[in-house]
Amino acid sequence: MNTHPTPVLISRYATGDDGVDDATIWAIEAHLESCAACRNTLTETVDPAARQLLDRVAAGIAAGIAAGPEPARRRRLRRTGATAQILPWLATAVALILAAVSFESTFRSMPSLVLLVAPMAPLLPVAAVWSRHTDPAWELVSTMPRTRLALLLRRTLAVLTAVVPMLAAAGGLTGHSPVLWLLPCLAFTAGALALGGLVGVDRAALGLSATWSVGVIAPSLVGQRLPVILEAGSWPGWAAATAGLVVVVLLRATHYGRRGIGRN
Ligand SMILES: [Zn+2]
Repeated sequence: MNTHPTPVLISRYATGDDGVDDATIWAIEAHLESCAACRNTLTETVDPAARQLLDRVAAGIAAGIAAGPEPARRRRLRRTGATAQILPWLATAVALILAAVSFESTFRSMPSLVLLVAPMAPLLPVAAVWSRHTDPAWELVSTMPRTRLALLLRRTLAVLTAVVPMLAAAGGLTGHSPVLWLLPCLAFTAGALALGGLVGVDRAALGLSATWSVGVIAPSLVGQRLPVILEAGSWPGWAAATAGLVVVVLLRATHYGRRGIGRN
């Protein structure tokens, strides 16, 4: 927002009006960080009685801090948080990939299990980093509309950074073209995020995994042939799907605020 938000809008923002959507809130917050004039307007829109109350609270806290005990010494943060919560799910993905490699090297006449599991390999860890049940910072994250999409993309990227090298090793060992495992993997990840705007990223990722397992992996193993969508010429379709889904994720950015993080 290059122009100043109107005083009416700032006042609706200050009072937490439900009619102000997430995209507008992001824009106002970004503008307030760089515009002193609008910060003054914001201060003026706060009711004088509430301002006096805030001043009293601030003075009380300052007095309490001055009179209180020495602050506790800074402890090293334990590695709890999303990183620790996601490790079991990353281990599951790694186990899945290893199992696929050993299955494929043992049963050479069967369709490639590495190609079949590649699309869903990142989905379990992605579901885990976006479940409110496994994310101790969920309450905090859900109050920060501006950071949600950035955080969503950063966490997803972290999952891919862990899963893609494993798939690369698996693809290299079994001799598959990288486009045949990488593009479906990226398309499904983007699909989980795109669907996540509607139903929550964790549900979308689990739903896609289940659908792919039942609809594609099981029939391929039973019929003993790789589906057409995973054959050599299929990659332009996956590339187009990935690009389209990424565009959907970016266009629907505001929806992640309300429904994208876990089940809220
Ligand atoms: Zn301004």
